[in-house]
Amino acid sequence: MNAPRPFSTPVTVAHPALPSLKEFSKGLEEIWERAWLTNNGPLVQKFRRQLIEVCKTSNISLISNGTLALQLALQGLEVTGEAITTPYTFVASTHALFWNKIRPVFVDIEPHYYSLDPEQVEAAITPWTSAILAVHVYGYPCRLEALAAIARRHGLKLIYDAAHAFGVEVNGIPIGKFGDASMFSLHATKVFHSIEGGMLMSQSPDLIRRIDYLKNFGFENETEVVMPGTNAKMSEFQALMGVLLLRQLDAMVEKRKAAAEHYHARLRTIPGLRLPPPPAEGVRYNYAYVPVEIDASKFGATRDEVYEGLRRFNVLARRYFYPIIPDLVCYRGLFPASGLTVARGIADRILTLPIYSDIEPDVIDRICDMVLYIQAKEHSRSVVAGLALPTSTPANAVTAQ
Ligand SMILES: *Cc1c(COP(=O)(O)O)cnc(C)c1O
Repeated sequence: MNAPRPFSTPVTVAHPALPSLKEFSKGLEEIWERAWLTNNGPLVQKFRRQLIEVCKTSNISLISNGTLALQLALQGLEVTGEAITTPYTFVASTHALFWNKIRPVFVDIEPHYYSLDPEQVEAAITPWTSAILAVHVYGYPCRLEALAAIARRHGLKLIYDAAHAFGVEVNGIPIGKFGDASMFSLHATKVFHSIEGGMLMSQSPDLIRRIDYLKNFGFENETEVVMPGTNAKMSEFQALMGVLLLRQLDAMVEKRKAAAEHYHARLRTIPGLRLPPPPAEGVRYNYAYVPVEIDASKFGATRDEVYEGLRRFNVLARRYFYPIIPDLVCYRGLFPASGLTVARGIADRILTLPIYSDIEPDVIDRICDMVLYIQAKEHSRSVVAGLALPTSTPANAVTAQ
């Protein structure tokens, strides 16, 4: 196999969607004319109205970023004591608990779509538990009904980190309508964004009202401050990006779908690689990520060999999520972290490949060729070095698993 040609510029795991510069400039000119830059300006109001349509509810609040949105949700729902959560997520999920002085209790995940295992959640409940913080990892819905039943049975708040899940629906219901509150991140690297940005969605108009106070210092009017809030407002510049990109959402998701299916067609049948099964019946998925689990004993190369090998070809795949949260330096030793075997195993095998709405099919083919080349090279190296017996299948054979 000839060595593939490296990319001349880095192919990153995500690439921000951008509207036309002309349209954005026109929007900027209008902002200049108004000189109204933040504090619930006309673009934030317009963005909110558009999101009410898309999200099929007016119970939403726009926030400066997803992390603050999650912190505000925990504050608004008065979560205290312990929250049962997942070790397999982005650090911000746990940081939000920590900043609110809530103790994270990590329980293991299920191996298919990487979200909290409801049985483990129920087993971890103590008299101090007040909430469940679950994450729709890679945009795949959590076990919604099972988690809701547990929360109901034990009187717990159920909060979703839906940072990956904008645009996802279950049987026509937007994913943000499940649980007591859902946080969406509108950061530049997500499927849909407002440069930086966040959104909270809830079934409770009262909660959204509280959040609207909390994000604006608790101001009722010029002289009355009714709760000790913070500053987590969205600016006009963020809203401008959001307004322009929201029009493209469906088209962007369609393009991501084609890209994800291309990866799946190329990689699904290779022994030692596992890609998640198609989303369950009734799920409208957003194709946020392309996670691949690499089982070194069957594939012939480790996840880190593939990760490093791809870097040499200028492909910056990422190990989302490695290491698991309780193993991070800032949390190590603070919280019990035994028994998280599914999460740890996946964290050791996972690699997320580049996907964004305008990724070219040729780029995907080249990345897949690189993965197979790295496999073949690692395989022959280990045979030459006498480190391992040849695996029973040829290194790059395409056979059904
Ligand atoms: C991106 C992300 C966040 C943080 O969102 P920001 O808008 O960047 O603050 C939180 N949780 C998860 C799972 C994320 O991927």
